[in-house]
Amino acid sequence: MLKDNEYFESDAVKEAVRGRWPLALGSLLPEGFQTALQKPGKQMPCPFNGGKTRFRFFRDTLNERGSAICNCCGAFSDGFEVLMWANKWDFRTALEAVGESLQVQPKTRLTGTPAKPRSNVVVPEIPRWAKNLQERMAKVRTVSPERARSKILSAWNEGLALTAPEAAPFLRYLMKDRGIRLRVSSKLFDTEHLRFHPALPYYEETIQEVDGVETSKWSCLGDYPAFMGALRNADGELVTVHRTYLTPEGRKAPVESARKMMAAPSDMEVNGCSIKLGDPVGGVLGLCEGKETGWAAMSATGIGVHSLVNTSLMAGYQVPLVLKDQVHTFIIWQDKDVSKAGEEAANTLKDRLEVEGFKVFVFEPPMPIPEGEKSVDWNDVLKTQGVLGFPDLRFLRRSAPVRRQA
Ligand SMILES: [Zn+2]
Repeated sequence: MLKDNEYFESDAVKEAVRGRWPLALGSLLPEGFQTALQKPGKQMPCPFNGGKTRFRFFRDTLNERGSAICNCCGAFSDGFEVLMWANKWDFRTALEAVGESLQVQPKTRLTGTPAKPRSNVVVPEIPRWAKNLQERMAKVRTVSPERARSKILSAWNEGLALTAPEAAPFLRYLMKDRGIRLRVSSKLFDTEHLRFHPALPYYEETIQEVDGVETSKWSCLGDYPAFMGALRNADGELVTVHRTYLTPEGRKAPVESARKMMAAPSDMEVNGCSIKLGDPVGGVLGLCEGKETGWAAMSATGIGVHSLVNTSLMAGYQVPLVLKDQVHTFIIWQDKDVSKAGEEAANTLKDRLEVEGFKVFVFEPPMPIPEGEKSVDWNDVLKTQGVLGFPDLRFLRRSAPVRRQA
Protein backbone atom coordinates (compact mmCIF):
# COMPACT_ATOMS: atom_id res chain seq x y z
CA MET A 1 0.00 0.00 0.00
CA LEU A 2 1.33 3.46 -0.87
CA LYS A 3 2.31 5.69 2.01
CA ASP A 4 0.68 9.11 2.31
CA ASN A 5 3.63 10.94 0.76
CA GLU A 6 4.10 8.41 -2.10
CA TYR A 7 2.70 8.27 -5.61
CA PHE A 8 3.24 6.40 -8.87
CA GLU A 9 4.56 8.16 -11.94
CA SER A 10 2.31 7.18 -14.81
CA ASP A 11 5.23 6.67 -17.22
CA ALA A 12 6.95 4.32 -14.77
CA VAL A 13 3.82 2.19 -14.36
CA LYS A 14 3.17 2.14 -18.11
CA GLU A 15 6.74 1.04 -18.73
CA ALA A 16 6.55 -1.67 -16.04
CA VAL A 17 3.33 -3.18 -17.35
CA ARG A 18 4.30 -3.26 -21.03
CA GLY A 19 4.89 -6.95 -21.76
CA ARG A 20 3.36 -7.99 -18.41
CA TRP A 21 -0.33 -7.25 -18.85
CA PRO A 22 -1.51 -10.84 -18.16
CA LEU A 23 -0.07 -10.53 -14.63
CA ALA A 24 -1.72 -7.19 -13.90
CA LEU A 25 -5.06 -8.11 -15.49
CA GLY A 26 -5.01 -11.56 -13.88
CA SER A 27 -4.83 -10.04 -10.43
CA LEU A 28 -7.08 -7.01 -10.95
CA LEU A 29 -9.98 -8.09 -13.17
CA PRO A 30 -13.26 -9.30 -11.62
CA GLU A 31 -14.06 -12.98 -11.91
CA GLY A 32 -16.40 -12.53 -14.88
CA PHE A 33 -13.44 -11.53 -17.03
CA GLN A 34 -11.07 -14.33 -16.14
CA THR A 35 -12.33 -16.97 -18.58
CA ALA A 36 -11.88 -14.55 -21.48
CA LEU A 37 -8.42 -13.57 -20.22
CA GLN A 38 -7.38 -17.21 -20.00
CA LYS A 39 -8.44 -17.81 -23.61
CA PRO A 40 -7.21 -14.69 -25.41
CA GLY A 41 -8.45 -14.38 -28.97
CA LYS A 42 -11.55 -16.45 -28.30
CA GLN A 43 -14.94 -14.72 -28.54
CA MET A 44 -16.74 -14.90 -25.20
CA PRO A 45 -20.01 -13.59 -23.74
CA CYS A 46 -19.91 -9.91 -22.76
CA PRO A 47 -19.18 -9.89 -19.00
CA PHE A 48 -21.93 -7.29 -18.53
CA ASN A 49 -24.52 -8.09 -21.17
CA GLY A 50 -24.12 -11.81 -21.89
CA GLY A 51 -24.65 -13.06 -25.44
CA LYS A 52 -22.34 -15.64 -26.94
CA THR A 53 -19.54 -14.22 -29.03
CA ARG A 54 -19.03 -10.60 -28.09
CA PHE A 55 -15.99 -10.03 -25.95
CA ARG A 56 -12.35 -10.95 -26.40
CA PHE A 57 -8.82 -9.95 -25.57
CA PHE A 58 -6.53 -9.47 -28.55
CA ARG A 59 -4.13 -12.38 -28.50
CA ASP A 60 -1.34 -10.66 -30.48
CA THR A 61 -1.23 -7.65 -28.21
CA LEU A 62 -2.26 -9.06 -24.83
CA ASN A 63 1.26 -8.95 -23.39
CA GLU A 64 2.22 -5.57 -24.80
CA ARG A 65 -1.02 -3.63 -24.42
CA GLY A 66 -3.71 -5.71 -22.69
CA SER A 67 -6.25 -4.48 -25.25
CA ALA A 68 -9.72 -5.99 -25.70
CA ILE A 69 -12.94 -5.45 -27.59
CA CYS A 70 -16.61 -5.99 -26.87
CA ASN A 71 -19.13 -5.84 -29.70
CA CYS A 72 -21.65 -4.20 -27.39
CA CYS A 73 -19.49 -2.12 -25.04
CA GLY A 74 -16.68 -0.83 -27.26
CA ALA A 75 -12.95 -1.16 -27.94
CA PHE A 76 -10.41 -0.86 -25.16
CA SER A 77 -7.03 0.13 -26.52
CA ASP A 78 -5.03 -0.95 -23.49
CA GLY A 79 -5.29 -2.78 -20.18
CA PHE A 80 -5.89 0.46 -18.27
CA GLU A 81 -9.06 1.03 -20.29
CA VAL A 82 -10.15 -2.57 -19.69
CA LEU A 83 -9.63 -2.16 -15.93
CA MET A 84 -11.47 1.18 -15.87
CA TRP A 85 -14.40 -0.36 -17.70
CA ALA A 86 -14.50 -3.65 -15.79
CA ASN A 87 -14.04 -2.21 -12.29
CA LYS A 88 -15.69 1.20 -12.93
CA TRP A 89 -12.43 2.86 -11.92
CA ASP A 90 -10.96 6.17 -13.01
CA PHE A 91 -7.53 6.23 -14.63
CA ARG A 92 -5.72 7.14 -11.41
CA THR A 93 -7.20 4.14 -9.58
CA ALA A 94 -6.25 1.79 -12.42
CA LEU A 95 -2.73 3.22 -12.49
CA GLU A 96 -2.27 2.80 -8.73
CA ALA A 97 -3.66 -0.73 -8.76
CA VAL A 98 -1.33 -1.78 -11.60
CA GLY A 99 1.60 -0.10 -9.88
CA GLU A 100 0.87 -1.94 -6.63
CA SER A 101 0.24 -5.24 -8.37
CA LEU A 102 3.59 -5.15 -10.21
CA GLN A 103 5.39 -3.57 -7.23
CA VAL A 104 6.55 -0.52 -9.15
CA GLN A 105 8.85 1.74 -7.12
CA PRO A 106 6.77 4.69 -5.93
CA LYS A 107 8.03 8.30 -5.90
CA THR A 108 8.06 10.41 -2.78
CA ARG A 109 6.17 13.68 -2.85
CA LEU A 110 8.06 16.81 -1.84
CA THR A 111 7.10 17.97 1.61
CA GLY A 112 4.48 20.68 1.44
CA THR A 113 2.85 19.33 -1.77
CA PRO A 114 -0.78 18.51 -1.01
CA ALA A 115 -1.49 14.77 -1.25
CA LYS A 116 -4.10 13.71 -3.81
CA PRO A 117 -6.98 11.55 -2.54
CA ARG A 118 -5.94 7.92 -2.68
CA SER A 119 -8.02 5.12 -4.19
CA ASN A 120 -6.97 2.50 -1.60
CA VAL A 121 -7.95 -0.44 -3.78
CA VAL A 122 -6.98 -3.75 -2.20
CA VAL A 123 -4.69 -5.47 -4.69
CA PRO A 124 -4.77 -9.29 -4.56
CA GLU A 125 -1.69 -11.39 -5.26
CA ILE A 126 -1.02 -12.42 -8.85
CA PRO A 127 -2.63 -15.86 -9.28
CA ARG A 128 -0.63 -18.84 -10.54
CA TRP A 129 -2.69 -19.14 -13.75
CA ALA A 130 -1.87 -15.54 -14.67
CA LYS A 131 1.83 -16.31 -14.41
CA ASN A 132 1.36 -19.31 -16.70
CA LEU A 133 -0.66 -17.19 -19.11
CA GLN A 134 2.12 -14.61 -19.12
CA GLU A 135 4.62 -17.27 -20.16
CA ARG A 136 2.34 -18.63 -22.88
CA MET A 137 1.63 -15.20 -24.31
CA ALA A 138 5.30 -14.24 -24.35
CA LYS A 139 5.71 -16.88 -27.08
CA VAL A 140 2.97 -15.45 -29.32
CA ARG A 141 4.43 -13.95 -32.42
CA THR A 142 3.46 -10.31 -32.38
CA VAL A 143 2.75 -8.33 -35.49
CA SER A 144 5.55 -5.81 -36.00
CA PRO A 145 4.49 -2.18 -36.29
CA GLU A 146 5.88 -2.13 -39.86
CA ARG A 147 3.73 -5.12 -40.85
CA ALA A 148 0.62 -3.57 -39.24
CA ARG A 149 1.31 -0.27 -41.05
CA SER A 150 1.76 -1.96 -44.40
CA LYS A 151 -1.56 -3.86 -44.02
CA ILE A 152 -3.36 -0.63 -43.14
CA LEU A 153 -1.79 1.26 -46.04
CA SER A 154 -2.49 -1.44 -48.57
CA ALA A 155 -6.21 -1.49 -47.73
CA TRP A 156 -6.33 2.31 -47.60
CA ASN A 157 -4.38 2.83 -50.85
CA GLU A 158 -6.80 0.57 -52.73
CA GLY A 159 -9.65 2.86 -51.70
CA LEU A 160 -11.64 5.09 -54.07
CA ALA A 161 -13.60 8.24 -53.38
CA LEU A 162 -17.03 7.66 -51.85
CA THR A 163 -18.35 9.57 -54.86
CA ALA A 164 -16.80 7.16 -57.42
CA PRO A 165 -19.32 5.23 -59.58
CA GLU A 166 -18.08 1.99 -57.96
CA ALA A 167 -19.19 3.32 -54.58
CA ALA A 168 -22.91 2.91 -55.40
CA PRO A 169 -23.37 0.32 -52.58
CA PHE A 170 -22.28 3.00 -50.11
CA LEU A 171 -24.78 5.57 -51.40
CA ARG A 172 -27.54 2.92 -51.36
CA TYR A 173 -26.63 2.08 -47.77
CA LEU A 174 -26.63 5.73 -46.74
CA MET A 175 -29.93 6.63 -48.42
CA LYS A 176 -32.00 3.46 -48.26
CA ASP A 177 -30.73 1.72 -45.15
CA ARG A 178 -29.95 4.77 -43.03
CA GLY A 179 -32.28 7.40 -44.51
CA ILE A 180 -29.47 9.95 -44.86
CA ARG A 181 -29.30 12.40 -47.76
CA LEU A 182 -26.09 14.34 -48.08
CA ARG A 183 -25.07 16.80 -50.73
CA VAL A 184 -22.47 14.86 -52.72
CA SER A 185 -19.60 17.27 -52.85
CA SER A 186 -15.87 16.73 -52.69
CA LYS A 187 -15.90 18.55 -49.38
CA LEU A 188 -18.09 15.98 -47.71
CA PHE A 189 -16.36 13.01 -49.26
CA ASP A 190 -12.74 13.89 -48.75
CA THR A 191 -10.41 11.01 -49.73
CA GLU A 192 -7.92 12.09 -47.07
CA HIS A 193 -10.42 10.80 -44.52
CA LEU A 194 -13.01 8.58 -46.21
CA ARG A 195 -12.73 5.96 -48.92
CA PHE A 196 -14.62 3.11 -50.53
CA HIS A 197 -13.25 -0.35 -51.26
CA PRO A 198 -15.14 -2.36 -53.91
CA ALA A 199 -14.00 -5.77 -52.60
CA LEU A 200 -12.30 -5.79 -49.21
CA PRO A 201 -11.48 -9.26 -47.84
CA TYR A 202 -13.16 -10.11 -44.54
CA TYR A 203 -11.05 -12.21 -42.18
CA GLU A 204 -11.97 -14.04 -39.03
CA GLU A 205 -9.53 -15.51 -36.52
CA THR A 206 -10.00 -18.96 -35.05
CA ILE A 207 -7.85 -20.42 -32.30
CA GLN A 208 -7.07 -24.10 -32.18
CA GLU A 209 -5.41 -25.90 -29.35
CA VAL A 210 -3.26 -28.86 -30.36
CA ASP A 211 -1.40 -30.66 -27.56
CA GLY A 212 -1.71 -27.63 -25.31
CA VAL A 213 -0.23 -25.27 -27.90
CA GLU A 214 -2.51 -22.56 -29.25
CA THR A 215 -2.35 -21.71 -32.90
CA SER A 216 -4.36 -18.98 -34.52
CA LYS A 217 -5.63 -19.17 -38.05
CA TRP A 218 -7.06 -16.32 -40.07
CA SER A 219 -9.58 -17.39 -42.70
CA CYS A 220 -10.97 -15.14 -45.42
CA LEU A 221 -14.75 -15.42 -45.45
CA GLY A 222 -15.21 -13.44 -48.67
CA ASP A 223 -14.78 -10.04 -50.29
CA TYR A 224 -17.30 -7.30 -49.60
CA PRO A 225 -17.79 -3.69 -50.64
CA ALA A 226 -16.77 -1.55 -47.67
CA PHE A 227 -16.41 2.04 -46.66
CA MET A 228 -13.33 3.04 -44.73
CA GLY A 229 -12.62 5.92 -42.38
CA ALA A 230 -9.11 7.12 -41.52
CA LEU A 231 -8.47 7.36 -37.79
CA ARG A 232 -5.99 10.22 -37.55
CA ASN A 233 -4.33 11.50 -34.40
CA ALA A 234 -4.15 15.12 -33.27
CA ASP A 235 -1.12 15.66 -35.54
CA GLY A 236 -3.09 14.37 -38.53
CA GLU A 237 -1.12 11.12 -38.94
CA LEU A 238 -2.98 8.05 -40.18
CA VAL A 239 -3.01 5.59 -37.25
CA THR A 240 -5.46 2.98 -38.45
CA VAL A 241 -8.52 2.41 -40.63
CA HIS A 242 -12.08 1.66 -39.57
CA ARG A 243 -14.07 -0.51 -42.00
CA THR A 244 -17.79 -1.08 -42.50
CA TYR A 245 -18.57 -4.10 -44.68
CA LEU A 246 -21.64 -3.91 -46.94
CA THR A 247 -23.52 -6.00 -49.48
CA PRO A 248 -23.72 -4.80 -53.12
CA GLU A 249 -27.37 -3.91 -52.38
CA GLY A 250 -26.24 -1.50 -49.67
CA ARG A 251 -27.08 -3.46 -46.53
CA LYS A 252 -24.72 -4.37 -43.74
CA ALA A 253 -22.69 -7.45 -44.75
CA PRO A 254 -23.86 -10.75 -43.20
CA VAL A 255 -20.72 -11.26 -41.10
CA GLU A 256 -20.06 -11.47 -37.37
CA SER A 257 -18.65 -7.94 -37.12
CA ALA A 258 -19.58 -5.74 -40.07
CA ARG A 259 -17.75 -2.84 -38.42
CA LYS A 260 -14.10 -3.42 -37.61
CA MET A 261 -11.03 -1.42 -36.83
CA MET A 262 -7.73 -2.61 -38.28
CA ALA A 263 -5.07 -3.50 -35.70
CA ALA A 264 -3.06 -0.32 -35.11
CA PRO A 265 0.75 -0.48 -35.18
CA SER A 266 1.96 -1.17 -31.64
CA ASP A 267 4.08 2.00 -31.64
CA MET A 268 1.08 4.26 -32.29
CA GLU A 269 -1.80 5.29 -30.05
CA VAL A 270 -5.43 4.90 -31.22
CA ASN A 271 -6.69 6.75 -28.18
CA GLY A 272 -7.17 10.41 -29.15
CA CYS A 273 -7.86 9.67 -32.83
CA SER A 274 -10.91 10.69 -34.84
CA ILE A 275 -12.43 10.32 -38.31
CA LYS A 276 -13.20 13.58 -40.05
CA LEU A 277 -16.59 13.55 -41.78
CA GLY A 278 -16.91 17.29 -42.30
CA ASP A 279 -15.57 20.75 -41.47
CA PRO A 280 -16.61 23.05 -38.64
CA VAL A 281 -19.13 25.75 -39.53
CA GLY A 282 -18.76 29.17 -37.91
CA GLY A 283 -16.44 27.72 -35.27
CA VAL A 284 -18.85 24.91 -34.34
CA LEU A 285 -18.03 21.23 -34.80
CA GLY A 286 -20.07 18.11 -34.00
CA LEU A 287 -18.66 14.95 -32.37
CA CYS A 288 -20.27 11.51 -32.19
CA GLU A 289 -19.51 7.79 -31.97
CA GLY A 290 -20.52 6.08 -35.26
CA LYS A 291 -20.11 7.60 -38.72
CA GLU A 292 -23.80 7.11 -39.53
CA THR A 293 -24.75 9.23 -36.51
CA GLY A 294 -22.35 11.91 -37.74
CA TRP A 295 -23.72 11.93 -41.27
CA ALA A 296 -27.29 12.04 -39.92
CA ALA A 297 -26.42 15.11 -37.80
CA MET A 298 -24.62 16.73 -40.75
CA SER A 299 -27.59 16.20 -43.04
CA ALA A 300 -29.97 17.67 -40.45
CA THR A 301 -27.89 20.65 -39.29
CA GLY A 302 -25.32 21.35 -42.02
CA ILE A 303 -22.58 21.43 -39.38
CA GLY A 304 -19.59 19.11 -39.90
CA VAL A 305 -18.95 16.22 -37.51
CA HIS A 306 -16.00 14.06 -36.50
CA SER A 307 -16.68 10.41 -35.70
CA LEU A 308 -14.96 8.96 -32.62
CA VAL A 309 -16.14 5.38 -33.35
CA ASN A 310 -16.93 4.19 -29.81
CA THR A 311 -17.28 5.32 -26.22
CA SER A 312 -13.68 4.68 -25.24
CA LEU A 313 -12.31 6.74 -28.14
CA MET A 314 -14.90 9.40 -27.38
CA ALA A 315 -13.68 9.70 -23.80
CA GLY A 316 -10.09 10.01 -25.03
CA TYR A 317 -10.61 12.38 -27.99
CA GLN A 318 -7.87 14.92 -28.66
CA VAL A 319 -8.74 18.05 -30.64
CA PRO A 320 -6.70 17.98 -33.89
CA LEU A 321 -4.07 20.71 -33.85
CA VAL A 322 -5.34 22.27 -37.09
CA LEU A 323 -8.73 22.81 -35.45
CA LYS A 324 -7.56 24.45 -32.24
CA ASP A 325 -7.94 27.95 -33.67
CA GLN A 326 -10.94 27.14 -35.86
CA VAL A 327 -13.35 25.74 -33.28
CA HIS A 328 -14.79 27.42 -30.19
CA THR A 329 -17.84 25.21 -29.65
CA PHE A 330 -18.42 21.46 -29.80
CA ILE A 331 -21.75 19.68 -30.09
CA ILE A 332 -21.68 16.09 -28.85
CA TRP A 333 -24.34 14.00 -30.57
CA GLN A 334 -24.54 11.44 -27.79
CA ASP A 335 -25.81 7.84 -28.18
CA LYS A 336 -28.46 6.79 -25.64
CA ASP A 337 -27.64 3.33 -24.29
CA VAL A 338 -29.33 1.05 -21.76
CA SER A 339 -25.87 0.74 -20.17
CA LYS A 340 -25.47 4.58 -20.02
CA ALA A 341 -22.02 4.16 -21.62
CA GLY A 342 -22.72 6.82 -24.28
CA GLU A 343 -23.83 9.37 -21.71
CA GLU A 344 -20.82 8.75 -19.48
CA ALA A 345 -18.34 9.04 -22.36
CA ALA A 346 -20.01 12.25 -23.59
CA ASN A 347 -19.84 13.82 -20.14
CA THR A 348 -16.21 12.81 -19.64
CA LEU A 349 -15.35 14.43 -22.96
CA LYS A 350 -17.44 17.51 -22.21
CA ASP A 351 -15.65 18.10 -18.89
CA ARG A 352 -12.24 17.78 -20.49
CA LEU A 353 -13.01 20.03 -23.48
CA GLU A 354 -14.42 22.67 -21.13
CA VAL A 355 -11.18 22.64 -19.13
CA GLU A 356 -9.39 23.26 -22.45
CA GLY A 357 -11.57 26.34 -22.87
CA PHE A 358 -14.19 25.14 -25.38
CA LYS A 359 -17.93 25.57 -25.11
CA VAL A 360 -19.66 22.18 -25.21
CA PHE A 361 -23.29 21.13 -25.71
CA VAL A 362 -24.35 17.50 -25.29
CA PHE A 363 -27.53 16.39 -27.07
CA GLU A 364 -29.18 13.07 -26.26
CA PRO A 365 -31.65 11.49 -28.72
CA PRO A 366 -35.15 12.71 -27.71
CA MET A 367 -36.74 9.27 -27.98
CA PRO A 368 -37.00 6.20 -25.76
CA ILE A 369 -34.86 3.12 -26.39
CA PRO A 370 -37.19 0.69 -28.17
CA GLU A 371 -38.14 -2.50 -26.31
CA GLY A 372 -35.48 -5.16 -26.80
CA GLU A 373 -32.88 -2.72 -28.21
CA LYS A 374 -29.64 -1.69 -26.51
CA SER A 375 -29.52 1.89 -27.69
CA VAL A 376 -30.77 4.66 -29.96
CA ASP A 377 -28.73 7.30 -31.78
CA TRP A 378 -29.33 10.45 -33.82
CA ASN A 379 -29.58 8.39 -37.01
CA ASP A 380 -32.66 6.73 -35.45
CA VAL A 381 -34.03 10.20 -34.70
CA LEU A 382 -33.54 11.21 -38.34
CA LYS A 383 -35.20 8.02 -39.55
CA THR A 384 -38.25 8.31 -37.29
CA GLN A 385 -38.69 12.08 -36.79
CA GLY A 386 -36.79 13.68 -39.65
CA VAL A 387 -34.89 16.94 -39.23
CA LEU A 388 -37.63 18.23 -36.91
CA GLY A 389 -36.37 15.79 -34.29
CA PHE A 390 -33.11 17.75 -34.12
CA PRO A 391 -32.54 20.70 -31.78
CA ASP A 392 -32.81 24.23 -33.15
CA LEU A 393 -29.21 25.41 -33.22
CA ARG A 394 -29.85 29.09 -33.95
CA PHE A 395 -28.98 29.83 -30.31
CA LEU A 396 -25.37 28.99 -31.16
CA ARG A 397 -25.11 32.10 -33.33
CA ARG A 398 -26.27 34.25 -30.45
CA SER A 399 -23.93 32.72 -27.87
CA ALA A 400 -20.72 34.72 -27.93
CA PRO A 401 -17.98 32.75 -29.65
CA VAL A 402 -15.15 33.87 -27.41
CA ARG A 403 -12.79 31.13 -26.36
CA ARG A 404 -11.32 31.44 -22.90
CA GLN A 405 -7.64 30.81 -22.57
CA ALA A 406 -7.22 27.43 -20.84
ZN1 LIG B 1 -20.35 -5.77 -23.95
